Amino acid sequence: MKVTPEQYRTHYLEADIAQWRFALVLFAVPNIIFAWIDYTVIGPGRMLHVYMTLRAILVVFSAALWHYLRTLRDFRRLDWLMLLWSLTGLAVIFLNVFGRPVDYFGHYAFEVFAVLVFFAACPLPPSKQVIVAACYLLPSIVLLLNYKTRSLPFYTSNLLFVMVLAVISGYLISVRINRYRMSAFEAQRNLELQAKSDPLTGIANRRAFLDAARGEMARVERTAEPAAVLMLDIDHFKAINDRHGHELGDLLLIAFTQRIQAALRPYDHFARFGGEEFVVLLPGTAAADAAALADRLRRVIGDQLFVVSGQAVPMTMSVGVAAVRPDNASLDCALRRADAAMYSAKKHGRNRVEVDATYRDGATMKAA
Ligand code: GH3
Ligand code: MG
Ligand code: MG
Repeated sequence: MKVTPEQYRTHYLEADIAQWRFALVLFAVPNIIFAWIDYTVIGPGRMLHVYMTLRAILVVFSAALWHYLRTLRDFRRLDWLMLLWSLTGLAVIFLNVFGRPVDYFGHYAFEVFAVLVFFAACPLPPSKQVIVAACYLLPSIVLLLNYKTRSLPFYTSNLLFVMVLAVISGYLISVRINRYRMSAFEAQRNLELQAKSDPLTGIANRRAFLDAARGEMARVERTAEPAAVLMLDIDHFKAINDRHGHELGDLLLIAFTQRIQAALRPYDHFARFGGEEFVVLLPGTAAADAAALADRLRRVIGDQLFVVSGQAVPMTMSVGVAAVRPDNASLDCALRRADAAMYSAKKHGRNRVEVDATYRDGATMKAA
């Protein structure tokens, strides 16, 4: 199953934040070292103050961001902050390079290197990396061509070439990292889905049902909303298997789940508990409504033949209904009572619904 970009970003948000905090340190430390180089190359003077101020702005912004990111939980804001930082960094680079003496020009090679590292280290999605790439390349080209060309033509052309190469390589690296992470996430998601679904029918398995039901039970306890469980068991399925073969039995189980699923509401939890036994959890449904729904399901299955592989097979089921007690939202207890009601339905002739009598709407409660 494909994952959406939103799920992908949310999944990696914590990793992205950790990566970006690491990258901030990666960029802030050389800035401090370069401040010292500025000092030795340019020496004290008015320009030095300008350069020091620019570097200080970037380091302070990085430190503030590094601190703020610890509590950030929104990938869209993370992206905008990364973009804002990147553009501030670029502005500092251009202001810094502009106006330097010609013999200081080689410094620009460091910026080319920094941009390559940036693309590999910054977890901005490739669609936004393009903005950074454009904001770096275009002013760089204008700057290099207009400002230094006449004095150092070969050096300038080499630098331009390496610069374009660095941006393209860096961008492609980030695209590949994204693609790799996406496929790793998809593989992980598929494994999780497989572990939660029944391989034959594709509906939830027992484990997934119990996971989902736990959340539902917490809500019942909190809000005192009604809820009910149904236990469904196909009648004489062994005989159907014996008569038509196991393979057709499998197809019947699939068709069975499709009919039930179509009759349920999207927020009902339907699962295969094992063999030809199924369970439904009905949130917000009182016992009387659950019993009526159970009887509708019974008719959905029993009133119409199942036609699979060209054979028409009649099938019926027995259903046990149990309301979840508001004073005791124990799933185990409700399932046990639904199971007992289902066995009672079997005992009383099958193809019928029986409601657990321990607790009904408005009735006085007896011990379960
Ligand atoms: P009852 O009305 O009492 O429920 O009778 P029954 O035959 O349905 O009950 P029983 O539990 O004795 O048998 C269940 C049968 O379901 C046995 C098994 O062969 C069949 N069964 C369980 N899982 C599968 C499956 O995945 N595919 C197929 N084809 N049959 C299955
Ligand atoms: Mg059965
Ligand atoms: Mg059974």
